[in-house]
Amino acid sequence: FTSKLPDTGPSIFTTMSQLAARHQAINLSQGFPDFDGPPRLISLVSQYLQAGHNQYAPMAGVQALREQISAKVETTTGICYDPETDITITAGATQALFTVMAALIRPGDEVIVFEPAYDSYAPSIRVFGGIPKPVTLLAPDFVVDWTAVEQLITSKTRLIVINTPNNPTARVLADADYRQLVRMVGDTDCYVLSDEVYEHMVYDGRKHLSVTHYAALRERAFVVASFGKLYHTTGWKVGYCLAPPQLTTEFRRVHQFNVFSVHTPMQWALADFLRDDDMHTELGAFFQQKRDFLVEALETTRFRPLPCEGTYFLLADYTAISELPERAFSEALTKHHGVATIPVSAFYHNNVNQHLVRICFAKKAQTLAQAIERLRLVT
Ligand code: PMP
Ligand code: GLN
Repeated sequence: FTSKLPDTGPSIFTTMSQLAARHQAINLSQGFPDFDGPPRLISLVSQYLQAGHNQYAPMAGVQALREQISAKVETTTGICYDPETDITITAGATQALFTVMAALIRPGDEVIVFEPAYDSYAPSIRVFGGIPKPVTLLAPDFVVDWTAVEQLITSKTRLIVINTPNNPTARVLADADYRQLVRMVGDTDCYVLSDEVYEHMVYDGRKHLSVTHYAALRERAFVVASFGKLYHTTGWKVGYCLAPPQLTTEFRRVHQFNVFSVHTPMQWALADFLRDDDMHTELGAFFQQKRDFLVEALETTRFRPLPCEGTYFLLADYTAISELPERAFSEALTKHHGVATIPVSAFYHNNVNQHLVRICFAKKAQTLAQAIERLRLVT
């Protein structure tokens, strides 16, 4: 049997979470909160379950939820996405990303990705015969070399994937980056897939700059978001995709056959919660406090934090501690010091090694404090 993804094993998130469990380590590896979502949202799900909302949702998603998403997007970006023609509810951001790839990519098509890149992008490009074309960004600044991007764009380029705020670099794209992108795609047929799952986690007074702000990009963009990130409910796997009508039509052609629709009671609950609660406006301050705690506490260790502008991840440099490559270092840290992190090399196709680990700080204060006590002993 010839595998379509011969080089792909269990993801680094699965691997490190399993290792953490095996060694009873504090798990700061896979990105998920160790606290629950809002109680009212959870009780709304129970109410809708009890009230009999247990059959198929409409293929594109519960109308009330699409309407609330439309209203929220309009409030935050000023852009109107029509619930009928431009918004589809998905089984998390992952399924939205995969469906975009399935809808667009033909064998031999090229897709530009910026590395370090979220782990699902390259396999979901390759499974449809696409060819990932990586642009390498390096620590400490992870600046995009737009000349290198321009040189990669050819008639075969089908799609450019961007992700801001970025997992794992914790950096955000600036207006100047977007302007370069606008200039570059101007005369091409390529589409943009914008992964904005961390849109509300931006710090120090920054404002998230969505691809939707740029008309020339918006008309060719699929924007992907996740309620798992927004409401601390990663296990629910509900997200959505915004795209202009023609692109949404193509998206739904595939979506109806790869999932058909997403579980119903969660969608009703999310619609009510989104209508009545503006929790997303407080998310930045909530996570900034955790980031600040971690940055300050790391000063008492030999790890050096890199700047974190957004997301709930922070990169830490361990050059002062060890010369081990990142994967071996993360494993040793888990096994011998009881703290699990993610080696950043896992986000590069060629395992670029920069002595960096990714720490997830979507954790209770007490979890972070306990982890710091352990990290202090790593010399
Ligand atoms: N994109 C990025 C950049 C992510 O970090 C994640 C998960 N943390 C996802 C997509 C997937 O989101 P979901 O859990 O909603 O599928
Ligand atoms: N997105 C999460 C992370 O970056 C992991 C999600 C997953 O395990 N698929 O840690």
